[in-house]
Amino acid sequence: MSKDSKNNFVVLKNICKRFGQNTVIGDLDLEIEKGSLVTLLGPSGCGKTTVLRMVAGLEKPTSGQIFIDGEDVTDRSVQHRDICMVFQSYALFPHMSLYGNVAYGLKNLKLPADEISQRVDDALKLVNLEGMGDRFVDQISGGQQQRVALARALVLKPKVLLFDEPLSNLDANLRRSMRETIRDLQKRFNITSLYVTHDQAEAFAVSDKVVVMKDGDIMQQGAPSELYQVPDSLFMANFMGDANIFDGHFDGETITINGVQVKANQRTVESKASGHYQVGVRPEAITLSHEGQPEHICKVNKVVYMGAMYEVSVTWGEHELLLQINSTEFDTDIKDQAYLSVNPVGVFLLDPVVLSSKKVQPELT
Ligand code: ATP
Repeated sequence: MSKDSKNNFVVLKNICKRFGQNTVIGDLDLEIEKGSLVTLLGPSGCGKTTVLRMVAGLEKPTSGQIFIDGEDVTDRSVQHRDICMVFQSYALFPHMSLYGNVAYGLKNLKLPADEISQRVDDALKLVNLEGMGDRFVDQISGGQQQRVALARALVLKPKVLLFDEPLSNLDANLRRSMRETIRDLQKRFNITSLYVTHDQAEAFAVSDKVVVMKDGDIMQQGAPSELYQVPDSLFMANFMGDANIFDGHFDGETITINGVQVKANQRTVESKASGHYQVGVRPEAITLSHEGQPEHICKVNKVVYMGAMYEVSVTWGEHELLLQINSTEFDTDIKDQAYLSVNPVGVFLLDPVVLSSKKVQPELT
């Protein structure tokens, strides 16, 4: 490994995976910093689980290398990688008590009985199952079963923790509390982790870095806020939430869309050259009021109450827009016509727009 990757505890280099004639992963590089949690996020079938299984040693890459803690583990079996996996299905032993489930891996390591007992008790306490070691798996809820699965992994103090859609079988409330537990414990013990999910909210809540995949390729990676606020392609803009897309012009300070000037945010000013672009505007960045300039007039087509927000469809010039306005801020007297205003924070530039035969290619500064 090169010197500059020394902070990267898990490194995948030029990974390719084929199943028969089907190339599932083309040529993938991935790095996970020590102590961080990286999530693979993407539509079903994009190859997330396959990548995770290759890190675990459950699948062998067709070509490429995998390093953990500086060592090439590409040819090592699951047992010799010092990893633990937490599955969607929990994969607990139903005939064993919770204590037995959590102690299982430690017994295999032939540790002294009192150390096993102490570590199991500590692990059960960490996941709020203190004193429940005697219960059996079918005597506890799904959420508690997932906590046992987590305790069973934590107790082994692995170098790397792998999560394969761990919360998919839980209801919405439990998912929320479990993702907090996972994030809390992962941070507290600084465990380098790779997490797979297709749920964006879950990915954002637990991750230091999110890696978005599509058809076996990485589309973009970064901190959750970066992916949401600065998507670098139309796919990312739509995958990371809803986006209203315009053809617009950036003059270095302001962005003009549909004849209206919006002050560009600092990020855009610092990273983009002047030119014509596809411009994305997040639905929550547009608000409506009763007064404004003529160029801000829009026709209100539909208002749908969603609880925390109103979803509003408007026609602005030739554009059909989706707005998401906080319920506490929406003026319900707004009916057929309104004036819109755009918050620069939710505006981002995508690809340069090709004008006639001349390609506009702004350079990144
Ligand atoms: P999901 O979210 O639905 O689990 P995913 O992004 O995790 O999807 P993978 O399970 O990694 O995707 O699958 C990627 C592709 O590889 C799919 O087309 C799948 O059919 C194929 N695939 C996975 N495992 C095998 C296998 N053992 N044999 C053949 N094809 C496979």
